[in-house]
Amino acid sequence: MSLDDALQAGLDALRDRDLERSLRVVARHEGAVVDTKLGTAVDFSSNDYLGLATHPRLAEAATNAIKEFGIGSGASRLISGNNPEHVALESELADYFEAEQALTFASGYAANVGIIPALVGRGDAIFADTLNHASLIDGCRLSRATVHVYPHLDVGALATLLQEHRGAARRALIVTDGLFSMDGDRAPIGDIVDLARQHDAWTYVDDAHAVGVLGVDGRGSASAARRLGDVDVTVGTLGKAFGVAGAFVYGSSTLIQYLMNRARSFIFSTAMMPAQAAAAREALRMIRFEPTHREKLLANAIRMTRMLHGAGIEAMGGAGAHIVPIMIGDAGEAVMVGSQLVTRGYLVGAVRPPTVPNGSSRLRITVSAAHTPLQIGGLAETLAGILRK
Ligand SMILES: *Cc1c(COP(=O)(O)O)cnc(C)c1O
Repeated sequence: MSLDDALQAGLDALRDRDLERSLRVVARHEGAVVDTKLGTAVDFSSNDYLGLATHPRLAEAATNAIKEFGIGSGASRLISGNNPEHVALESELADYFEAEQALTFASGYAANVGIIPALVGRGDAIFADTLNHASLIDGCRLSRATVHVYPHLDVGALATLLQEHRGAARRALIVTDGLFSMDGDRAPIGDIVDLARQHDAWTYVDDAHAVGVLGVDGRGSASAARRLGDVDVTVGTLGKAFGVAGAFVYGSSTLIQYLMNRARSFIFSTAMMPAQAAAAREALRMIRFEPTHREKLLANAIRMTRMLHGAGIEAMGGAGAHIVPIMIGDAGEAVMVGSQLVTRGYLVGAVRPPTVPNGSSRLRITVSAAHTPLQIGGLAETLAGILRK
């Protein structure tokens, strides 16, 4: 069988189960407005939680850096790609998170698949939440450590697994999302840190959806749980609330020095553009020193859940969560509701397996500080109309 025939059979099988994916062209503008070939829509599917992705101040910071340094970083960080903008961003991130040091990566995906295998390997044990992000799962697999998966958020089950398996392992690492991207709920950071200490394990939190949003001045999940500084390794992305692209890890100086020497996705990859770092620095200033962005997001998130509830729609995630999933179940149905919404001017993600478990396809509404009350009310009303039919 030819390569194409073999692959076509795979694509056909996906299509039969309503799981085939395709790209949509989306031109993003200020105010969470996007143009697609189906017309203009309000975007309720992005991770641009604070509306910074199209903010003129970030664009200006990037433009200035391009004028000064050009486009490309020229090399990996350890060769000659280590621009002053990278160094400044990392030192400002470390200061913000009250950590000794921070290190940037090309993306959150690259960070997770590079860091986890640098920390643990054969003979070690990983304890992981069953709903962890794909990049964490891949990092765990790459590490060759034995992975013990516990039911979602179940610290009792985690404690049992630690009791049973910690002893046989050399090192132990507990790995979890801070705020779960498809369910909108939070990891019990305090309980996890306490268990880790009890069992001589380390903690690794991927806080992609919480940095810039939750906690004091947006410092994330650990801060929200009043345990900032108690997590050993924290990863955050610059592609979500920060509105740019790229990622970072923060922790002790020893951790960062070690990762510079051992994280393969850091060592063997071109440094992010200096302009990305410059834009991320501007985003960090806005997140840290301008609470209005976060306050607007929270007000919008509360409004969203209230309007949905008022329209008789049951949403997952907590009150005031900026990720608002609505369970549909069937993949085909989720896609159909999504496409009806987009023709009515609202872009909402239809999330299907393998992103979520089989039979749990859902709409994933994400709220942004850039939304207006009118847009939020409009979505709730339109969605209610579609779901009634
Ligand atoms: C989005 C996401 C990532 C990937 O980050 P990128 O910077 O987009 O590569 C990693 N982990 C979690 C939990 C995410 O939601």
